[in-house]
Amino acid sequence: MSDRAAHLNSLPDDLHSAANALAVDALIRRLRAYYPDMSGFTAVSMTGRGRDFLHHLVHTRIGGLLPAVLSFNDYRSHRIAEATGRTAVPEDEAFLHFHALRCREEGRSLPPADTQRLLSFLTTLAEFSVTIDELRALDRIGPEQFERIDWFFATMEAFRARLATGGLFYPPFEATRFADLTPGDGEFFIGLPLMTPGNERFFSRIPKDRLFVDAPLFGPNMPIEPPDYETALSLVRRIGIAERRHDGELPGFTELAERAALPTLLAREIDTFLRNYGSDREQLFIVPLDEKLSFYLWEFLFRPLGGQVNFAPWLPFTHFAAAQRLREGIRDGKGLAAMRRDLVSELTTRWNELDEADHSAFEGGITLCDELDRLRALMPFTENEWLPLAEHFIAVKKLRLRGRRDAPIQVVGLGDATGVPYARTVILPMNSDIFPRRPFSGPYLNLIHLPRIYRTQYEADDLALRQFLSFGRTAHIAALYDQANGDAPSAHFSFLATEFGQRMVKRRMVPAALRGPAGSLVIENTDELKERLRRHTWSFSSLKNFFTCPCRFILEDMEAVKPPSCFEDKDSTNLLIGEFLHRFFAELKEHRPAVLHWQELFDTRWESDEDLRMKLPDQAVRKAIVQSHLADIAAWEKETGRSILFSDEVTEAELELSAPFGGGRYRLKGRIDRLQRDGDQTLITDLKYKEKKTYAEKDRLVDRLEKTDVFDDRFQLLIYAYLALQNKRATPGLLDAAHLFLRPRMRGDYEGHLAKEDLDACDATMEGIAGRLDALLALERFTPNFRADGCSYCPYKALCLKPDLYQTIGRPGGHPW
Ligand code: SF4
Repeated sequence: MSDRAAHLNSLPDDLHSAANALAVDALIRRLRAYYPDMSGFTAVSMTGRGRDFLHHLVHTRIGGLLPAVLSFNDYRSHRIAEATGRTAVPEDEAFLHFHALRCREEGRSLPPADTQRLLSFLTTLAEFSVTIDELRALDRIGPEQFERIDWFFATMEAFRARLATGGLFYPPFEATRFADLTPGDGEFFIGLPLMTPGNERFFSRIPKDRLFVDAPLFGPNMPIEPPDYETALSLVRRIGIAERRHDGELPGFTELAERAALPTLLAREIDTFLRNYGSDREQLFIVPLDEKLSFYLWEFLFRPLGGQVNFAPWLPFTHFAAAQRLREGIRDGKGLAAMRRDLVSELTTRWNELDEADHSAFEGGITLCDELDRLRALMPFTENEWLPLAEHFIAVKKLRLRGRRDAPIQVVGLGDATGVPYARTVILPMNSDIFPRRPFSGPYLNLIHLPRIYRTQYEADDLALRQFLSFGRTAHIAALYDQANGDAPSAHFSFLATEFGQRMVKRRMVPAALRGPAGSLVIENTDELKERLRRHTWSFSSLKNFFTCPCRFILEDMEAVKPPSCFEDKDSTNLLIGEFLHRFFAELKEHRPAVLHWQELFDTRWESDEDLRMKLPDQAVRKAIVQSHLADIAAWEKETGRSILFSDEVTEAELELSAPFGGGRYRLKGRIDRLQRDGDQTLITDLKYKEKKTYAEKDRLVDRLEKTDVFDDRFQLLIYAYLALQNKRATPGLLDAAHLFLRPRMRGDYEGHLAKEDLDACDATMEGIAGRLDALLALERFTPNFRADGCSYCPYKALCLKPDLYQTIGRPGGHPW
């Protein structure tokens, strides 16, 4: 499928070339013509949730002043707002207004789920421009039902009028107004919206040179002319966009016998893919079609893959502990402010033991408290009416995890991946009523009554699938014939297999039971290993690893064993920011006075930092946070006259030094962040993007050498002091060393100095360190130290056979690290 010299049918010439190009590439080429200032343009993603991917591609592939990137819904609301002079009401507020209207009309409290059903039914009527006359004229509608039909439309009108008096409108109910609008200058459109009558009218006015649509892929057996059954080919021909006929490796079609086989099939696909993951960094796209599977797959398959996977589908909030806490709190009549405080405190205390999805759920819970507070203030609901509403908002809330777009495995919805080429995709399960989706069914309005609604949705789903197939090289499509649950493959699945001339293969896949390995690691301290350890140049971090867990040190530093890829953690946010700050402050040394120039330099360096842009998904928010910490420190230094972080007395930055210790038996190295003058002293500073850690006054380093579980950060300063003195970068008695904490718990609490007694005992402590090395090197073998500081986050658990590898705190079956 990668060969884009596609075998095309008899299309007009301009559509031939369009079929071979990715729409997003064509759009980016077009925008580049206006580089560097594209801020006057708007790119509208017309397809489902494709806006996020489009935004990512535009922002990562073009620099300069970028265009606005809008979803189709936002664009439509914005245009209707311009035309009516009113403001679009957000979905949650619209629901509240509608619910209030119904409760007042009926004179009683109604179940919110009932309001939700009615609102979505009326939305379908409005989106598909269904009229009263059309409904009344349907077969099997008798005069006794006219009254109910009239009520639907009267309710819709009453709702519109209620909103209009407040200067508001609900976008789906104004769909026909949008139909009469014309695309503005400087607006580019990518993809297709659901072709409701209103959207199709607007779509027909988009000039061809401002429309970018990916050509869908059809199999070799698809008839040249659109067949009688529903297919995207009819849509493509009707609106005149390019199409492709298949010319590459044919997709595979698998029929599975049971639900449990779905993760097994995915696990095999992932395993094969990661084994062959090469330098071309082509990705595997997995498209779970059944929303109900998302949480299950996340929990048991994708979460353990850590940074290898970007998981884009929504997860239901209600499956998480934060949602349960919120719901119980609301039922017990606890105030929102108190619940918010509890969630913040639980998130902060348990941060390290919670995983990414739990973080997201707690953050979602905290935001929901604010949202509920805001919504509650909008309308005067009684306590009895409000309680079910609050529970409704908890029940419908969904979470989105943040991941890296460059991760090898991308789990997405069909609409998410517009324009991203990939090596392979696995799409599943293509079952009845899951894909294509279950036909809409409401009162008087279903497949039989109004087939045009069914056809439009079917064509949209079929088109999305075929466009997605055209982005990649190979595909595997699976369905389930689950007799226990009565799930059969969809007819669409069989049609596709026939169209691509492939046989459906029935597979029986039984998941293998997981058995944790037994035993524990023992590393023999051979003469060769002893010699290598003796010759090693030690640093603070290697000493820390060796003293706390020699096995980890040997695996990591001596043997350079690469942990299994699923244990590799993605770069943590704080680590990335910390590394950036080191680079930034090293450079700031040349920009004096630092306190005046730092803002501008920070801004430029952050914006141009490739690492932050690629690896920090919320980098704009992070930037604001880091900037505010630094601004606070700068302001404090100005107020107090104690210039230390923004000092202009920095003489050296990122200074690499080495020296012998232990009477020449060992060698030591280190990289000192900064040497700066502080009065008549030389001050060694080490920057830490974290909170200050305090130590007991009487706690001396020289007495801590025998502690086997920790080797705290003060040893780092001591080692730097030793290196500075040995290299004549400082004078004994005129030396000080401190960590500078850039994320302080309290304003002004930035410095953590090495105690004078520890500095005075520098040589004795270094001698003690050499003695401890002697003792360790004399051992016959090394065994893991499961109590080591940092053991919980060590990526070598699977190799040292840590006993609780397959358990996590408070969550059996959760991720093992
Ligand atoms: S997991 Fe713990 S015991 Fe095992 S190597 Fe890592 S630090 Fe050592």
